[in-house]
Amino acid sequence: MELSELSKKRLEGVDERLKAIVIECAARCSYPFNVSEGLRTEEQQREYVRQGKSRTMKSKHLTGKAVDLYPLSMDRKVVDWSRFEELADLMFQVASDQGTEIVWGGNWKTFVDKCHFELK
Ligand SMILES: [Zn+2]
Repeated sequence: MELSELSKKRLEGVDERLKAIVIECAARCSYPFNVSEGLRTEEQQREYVRQGKSRTMKSKHLTGKAVDLYPLSMDRKVVDWSRFEELADLMFQVASDQGTEIVWGGNWKTFVDKCHFELK
C-alpha cells in the first residue's frame, strides 16, 4: 500500500538504501503503515533522551540511518499493535532482497523499540 504524502516527506534526508527498503516494503505490504520519523536533529534527540524515549545521543536517526514505522489499521486511523513482528519480517525480507543489512529495535534486549529500523 502506498505511503501517505506525510510519510514520504518524513523519508527526506534518510539514507537512500533505507529509503528504498521502506518504499519497496510499502509496495509489498497488504496493510498500511506510516513513517513517524526519519532524520532527527540533535535538539530533538536531546529532548527524547530527557523524556526517556531514547537513551543515547548516538542514535542513527541523527545521521538519517534509522526510521520509525507504525503499522496501521486498514482505514489508517489507529496503530495496529499486533502487526509489528509481521512488518519487521517484511522489512528483513526486502532488505535481504536489496542486499542491505538492517537491525530491528524489536530485537534489542535492554530497550525494545518495535517501531525502529536502522542500517547495520
Ligand atoms: Zn527510531
